[in-house]
Amino acid sequence: MTKIKEDKFLPPESPEIWFTEKHTNNCGITFKVNKTLYSGRSKYQRIDILETPEFGRVMLLDGLVMLTQKDEFVYHEMITQIPLFTHKNPKSYLVIGGGDGGTVSRVALHPEIEKITEVEIDEDVVNVSKRFFPEIASGYNDRRTKLIIDDGIKFIENSESKYDIVTVDSTDPFGPAEGLFSEKFYNDIYNSLTDTGILTVQSETPFYDIDATKVIYKNLKKSFPIVRVYLAFIPTYPAGVWSFCLASKMYDPLIDFDEKRFSAVSLPLKYYNKQIHKAVFALPSVYNVF
Ligand code: SAM
Repeated sequence: MTKIKEDKFLPPESPEIWFTEKHTNNCGITFKVNKTLYSGRSKYQRIDILETPEFGRVMLLDGLVMLTQKDEFVYHEMITQIPLFTHKNPKSYLVIGGGDGGTVSRVALHPEIEKITEVEIDEDVVNVSKRFFPEIASGYNDRRTKLIIDDGIKFIENSESKYDIVTVDSTDPFGPAEGLFSEKFYNDIYNSLTDTGILTVQSETPFYDIDATKVIYKNLKKSFPIVRVYLAFIPTYPAGVWSFCLASKMYDPLIDFDEKRFSAVSLPLKYYNKQIHKAVFALPSVYNVF
């Protein structure tokens, strides 16, 4: 009997590896992977870092894309610069979640901010990000930044400090992040804000199922007199379109944009500018339910 040489059936080069994240049962995003740089399981979630030809390094938490080197600037600028240029005199900033450091780093661009606090539940996310995304995580080296490893829900319940701006940069509303979208949590944040305070939150994609964004908006409305939804284009997030909510005690981003301060500084921003500040609040007709 002739012996079949096994390598005869192998392709000439090593096979391509592709990653897929399902966004619904019927569609998702797929990209090629050069190699996996890190895989580990923390107390809260699985963490993977991939190296990809299209998006550079990618962080996955529980198999979902959290950030990529190529498009992270959109999310991190939009969740921070809109409140920072709406508030007239921001000095203290609290970030809940955001363990990759991208949010803190965009806040640290502002010289007027005196104190930046981040409360992240998972220390491993911070350490992995410092190792594989040192530029994105650079805000942790800023002398104004204080990192607290704790559950943001518990922290805000017991907090006696007051902040000018709070940002909830959370994973999706499952597991430890579920309570970060509740009416009670938003009310606790209201109480931790100064009288002119502003809150921004990521509020999911409205494209496939608008209900998650609607619930977040409704819950914020129970505590805050001003709540506005805005959109940004993030190619690696579901549908490529992501929503944020700005909830405010007094300042309205459409009226109170601080153009003078924006023009006086020259920050290294790639997405946010003065036209974007207003344009992002113009919603397509199908989303005119907010
Ligand atoms: N931009 C990202 C996105 O939406 O895809 C979110 C990025 S950031 C990595 C989300 C962070 O929220 C994670 O590091 C996670 O550990 C943290 N987180 C989840 N639940 C939390 C909680 N209850 N308190 C504090 N941080 C929490």
